[in-house]
Amino acid sequence: MIIVSACLAGVECRYNAQAFPIPEVVELVKKGKAIPLCPEILANLSTPRPSVEQCAGKFLSNCGKDLTAEYMAGAKVALAISKLVESKIAILKSKSPTCGSGLIYDGTFSGNLIEGDGIFCTLLKEENIKVYTEDEFQALNFREDFGLNR
Ligand code: SF4
Repeated sequence: MIIVSACLAGVECRYNAQAFPIPEVVELVKKGKAIPLCPEILANLSTPRPSVEQCAGKFLSNCGKDLTAEYMAGAKVALAISKLVESKIAILKSKSPTCGSGLIYDGTFSGNLIEGDGIFCTLLKEENIKVYTEDEFQALNFREDFGLNR
């Protein structure tokens, strides 16, 4: 089973209450090949909610509130679900402090990116679950690799 960021599957769960749907990700979910998860919703955070970035190991909102405990808790619940369904692959929303893979915002809320992973992505990689961003996924021969032709 593939784990996908719920916002990529069309769920309006981002901080700004919008989705970021990728048609092929939606198709994976509709065909029963993927499960959409949003760790931030699993942490009981509201939608819409303040923008959050990682800063020196903490998760801080754009008004300075420390939400580290909430972000950690949501990522752990999402990891537990991922392990329950024995997922080996995840397609996660790029740049997010939770789901980002390889690049995340630098904590200054100025749009700058630095190398790093979101906390959910980090936990998945520690379990040897392969993580793709939506761009990496779309660059693959995904129709065959992900069973969309079947
Ligand atoms: Fe999307 Fe992940 Fe952010 Fe939820 S936590 S809105 S799934 S990027």
